Amino acid sequence: MIAHVAVEAAVDRLFDYAVPDALRTQIAPGVRVRVPFGRRTTFGYVVEVSAARTDATHQTDLLASDAPRTLKPILALAGEHPFLTEPLLRLIRWIADYYCAPLEATIRGALPAPVRREGARAREQLFVEVVKEAGQTGPIPLTARQTELLAQLRRLGGGWLNTLCRELHCTPAVLRKLAEAGLLTIAPQARRRDPLARRTVLPTQPLTLMPEQAAALARATALCDEPAPKPLLLLGVTGSGKTEVYLQAIAHVLKQERGAIVLVPEIALTPQTVQRFAGRFGSQVAVLHSALSDGERFDEWHRIRTGAARVVVGPRSAVFAPVPRLGLIVVDEEHEPSYKQDEMPRYHARDVAVMRGRIEHCAVVLGSATPAMESWRNATRSKYHLARLTRRVDDRPMPSVRIVDMRIELARTGHVSVFSAALLEAISARLAQSEQVILFLNRRGYATSLQCPKCGFVATCEACSVAFTYHQADAALRCHTCGAYQPLPAVCPGCGDPAFKYAGFGTQRIETIVHTCFPHAHVARMDADVTARRHSHDEILGAFRTGDTDILIGTQMIAKGLDFPGVTLVGVLLADGSMHQPDFRAGERTFQLLAQVSGRAGRGELPGEVIVQTYTPSHPAVVAAETADFDTFAAAELAARQAGGFPPFAHLTCLTFRGVSEEKVAFVANTFAARLKTLAPAGVVLADATPSPRPKAKGAFRYQILLRAAAASAMRAPVRQVVADTKLPADVLLAIDVDAVSVQ
Ligand code: ADP
Ligand code: ZN
Repeated sequence: MIAHVAVEAAVDRLFDYAVPDALRTQIAPGVRVRVPFGRRTTFGYVVEVSAARTDATHQTDLLASDAPRTLKPILALAGEHPFLTEPLLRLIRWIADYYCAPLEATIRGALPAPVRREGARAREQLFVEVVKEAGQTGPIPLTARQTELLAQLRRLGGGWLNTLCRELHCTPAVLRKLAEAGLLTIAPQARRRDPLARRTVLPTQPLTLMPEQAAALARATALCDEPAPKPLLLLGVTGSGKTEVYLQAIAHVLKQERGAIVLVPEIALTPQTVQRFAGRFGSQVAVLHSALSDGERFDEWHRIRTGAARVVVGPRSAVFAPVPRLGLIVVDEEHEPSYKQDEMPRYHARDVAVMRGRIEHCAVVLGSATPAMESWRNATRSKYHLARLTRRVDDRPMPSVRIVDMRIELARTGHVSVFSAALLEAISARLAQSEQVILFLNRRGYATSLQCPKCGFVATCEACSVAFTYHQADAALRCHTCGAYQPLPAVCPGCGDPAFKYAGFGTQRIETIVHTCFPHAHVARMDADVTARRHSHDEILGAFRTGDTDILIGTQMIAKGLDFPGVTLVGVLLADGSMHQPDFRAGERTFQLLAQVSGRAGRGELPGEVIVQTYTPSHPAVVAAETADFDTFAAAELAARQAGGFPPFAHLTCLTFRGVSEEKVAFVANTFAARLKTLAPAGVVLADATPSPRPKAKGAFRYQILLRAAAASAMRAPVRQVVADTKLPADVLLAIDVDAVSVQ
């Protein structure tokens, strides 16, 4: 018996090992093993087991030339259980192939680090149990205190030693005495580290569905019962109750003793989101999230693997959750760019979910108010089913959207202002009626950049060639690309003048202005700077929910998924941020963002209003946002994509080269492009190597090559071939991004 192993080493191929007789019954695809590799030993994952070798010569080429041609044996099994099921392994092999990523790195990416770590195990703590058969008093006479404790323990039945000592005000020694007397047992037991332990989760019951919800649910459950279902795109306007459809579809698969995975964008994975699932399914819910402690992640993953938790809620990596009998995968906000992993393997979790659905024959529901053009086109061509929720729950009206042309505001006031008169008036009106306001700005910091009014000098991060952002709280300049930090210079480094001008504005400056304009309002701000602390997120949202906060100012963090019925006004301070980017998806992103932010208004009894400030009111995304008309926007957008030969009418692969020497990076990129041109089959459109739209980041120069073709597979072979043939200099790195969502 021979095992084909993906070895934890920087070599992208499988290696064969002999399976010793002693391990025969345990070695199967998915187990982790310790193997000899060259002069050392390392870990690997068994990918296949067969009777014959597949790699013929590898161990001899790799090792000294006099190495024996016999196979080396697997040394030991690592971990008690297989780490991957057979369908997951198939999925991972597909990812490695499709996204041109090494198999071993892809396997590693699919397993949480705390699960893979050597020696990671369940936490054991001492558990106390009362021995039932023991008599009332036991073999030794008990003191009054001991008798009393025993009575209390009998009532409780038992518990964790440390908890009992705290609750019963006794020391462990006292309980040990009782154990010695044979009245109690004290023994180590696995104690779950529960990420929701500190939360009170209120149980909820299924709601009576609106007709459109009921129809969508019927479609989804029918798919769960089909042997090989197509994915379902659930296009529901904001506030139409998509989550309730997910919840009831999950209840359906749970009834069949199957499991479900719910993917949500990382920033939408708020306590509120988790509560909605935990409230319905209780301890059957497992959360996988990078903010969990290692112990919590370890325990949650094993609860999933054993079937103790059958509903998994998590960000993109949760698509690999080892759910035993998977019945349904939900991808909420399926259009979110954060589903694309921006490091190797560069997979798109939505597309991986669709592939996992195909492999495991389970239903996949993709939900969004503003689907990605890729998904929308699949739905219009019947590759996906489509269900629509066109109305908000209880027929609440969609918010009215008003576009404010800031150019007119500038002409009227003679200066650049942060707030238009219309928005200020609307805020006062809401505050007067004790209603809540969200102010949204797609950027953090106090002023975007600092510019000297005398000489025009702009404080710039040298490593990234982007302007620093000024942060008022600690009077610092920060680079939002590389995180570099620098105290605010006392005088202009260009001309020595002490007056720096705030050239832009960020969430901090808005907070200051709001305080000045509305001194009696309770204002909170939520952005990555504030929420760096672990629980501040919960606190800020909690205060907003209870109505203690009147105005919430934030970045895209508050755009998604939040459901606050008291909010009647949403102000978008500047819609232009996302629309002028050198990316063919800029229009789509702007429309999505405006629709998402607008969706936060008017979710309760009172109707909502949205005010969008912009210098580009005629932009198609802004015009479409005014009427929240996805279909019209999508039709125009698709026509433009087709004319330009962009996705979803073509697949795009972006090769990015980076390194500290611009000359070297350019040379390697050009050589690569030239080689690709000779190899690429007809139908692959290939541009010359060019500096990336963001030509420098984190001290490295960046060049890119964009390839386009009707099928991603057409680009794979030539790219692989050139990668295999070209030895990159050690200081030039290549990133291959198949189906890139951002080409910056
Ligand atoms: P979406 O995700 O589509 O924006 P949500 O799922 O957040 O919408 O639903 C919006 C609100 O409507 C939530 O407070 C939810 O509890 C409520 N809701 C959903 N479905 C129903 C229903 N059938 N009856 C009453 N309320 C509902
Ligand atoms: Zn920088």
